[in-house]
Amino acid sequence: MPEVKLQSIDKIYDGGVQAVYDFNLDVADGEFIVLVGPSGCGKSTTLRMVAGLEEITNGKLIIDGKDCTRLPPKDRDIAMVFQNYALYGHMTIYENMAFSLTLRKENKEVIHRKVMAAAEILDLKTQLNKKPKQLSGGQRQRVAMGRAIVRNPKVFLFDEPLSNLDAKLRGSMRREIMLLHKKLNATMMYVTHDQTEALTLADRIVCMSMGRVQQIGKPIDLYERPANTFVATFIGLPPMNMFDGVVEGGKFKSELFEYPLNEKQKQTLKDYEGKEIVLGVRPENIKRGGPVKLLVTNNENLGMNTLVHGKIGGVKIVVCKFAEWCIYEEGQTIDIGFDPELTHFFEKPEGDNPGVAIR
Ligand code: ADP
Repeated sequence: MPEVKLQSIDKIYDGGVQAVYDFNLDVADGEFIVLVGPSGCGKSTTLRMVAGLEEITNGKLIIDGKDCTRLPPKDRDIAMVFQNYALYGHMTIYENMAFSLTLRKENKEVIHRKVMAAAEILDLKTQLNKKPKQLSGGQRQRVAMGRAIVRNPKVFLFDEPLSNLDAKLRGSMRREIMLLHKKLNATMMYVTHDQTEALTLADRIVCMSMGRVQQIGKPIDLYERPANTFVATFIGLPPMNMFDGVVEGGKFKSELFEYPLNEKQKQTLKDYEGKEIVLGVRPENIKRGGPVKLLVTNNENLGMNTLVHGKIGGVKIVVCKFAEWCIYEEGQTIDIGFDPELTHFFEKPEGDNPGVAIR
């Protein structure tokens, strides 16, 4: 039985701003779902509706078979970890972790057992007598997770929990959250604007833009088979290169270059003869040698690969990622091609059409 079901959920704030449109998702027991999208796309609002911190305008929320649409937060059996994890400064780490259980007037022994179990999982056993200010940012974030774990909730909700940490710490905390999910085997919903966090943490990603779900799928699905131009450019770093053009006589013709299509691509595009489409290719799927001339503007050697920035036809900025260590000079022209198996085509985004993938 799915643990959390969101059915046709809308959110319209007082004043008329619609933040979420027709959100549908079944979260399986033990699944790690990441809601990702740019700032303002409605992901926190969605999470806060699951938590009960925002009213659900239309639609239904079911948690573990129970209709929770109008239930107050305390009756939903969820625990939320926020970006601002504000620990109580005057309390010890132990007291901070025990706090919600103390409020519920749980038996002292039960509290002790639960806090010690959480401290063990989070490697905080030697920190329990300290005050929050004596801990590092990463340890404080772990305490915030500890406060959620002791409650043994049905569902864990995370709202950008790592965004206050520096880049290095974010990386290590990401791995800790992954391990935590494995250890607890808990159902988790996690909000972030960071596509790397989404790709590395999620069993399934929900990618949102402007209040609407754009695609739901495994990380590899969103990376390899993006549903539309939004997902194609949001997931993957550096982002996918996109070119506007027309399909004509077995070629993709843009103002900047012409690209011969192979048989399989011609077949895929057979209904688009004479129509405007978008060709997308990831930096890592551009190869050296091919029919397109690239004027190099910048060459970045990253050790295991090289990012080459350049222009086509003097205007379109393109990024290529070559697996080799290459050195190009600014102003040099190089020939590039697109891996035909890994070139994407989309309808031209127009009106309600977000530029859906052509397959
Ligand atoms: P995200 O988490 O993706 O950054 P939010 O869910 O916070 O996005 O916000 C989605 C939209 O709803 C934004 O346009 C935001 O301005 C609006 N919004 C958020 N909270 C409120 C509120 N309390 N009242 C009115 N509009 C809000």
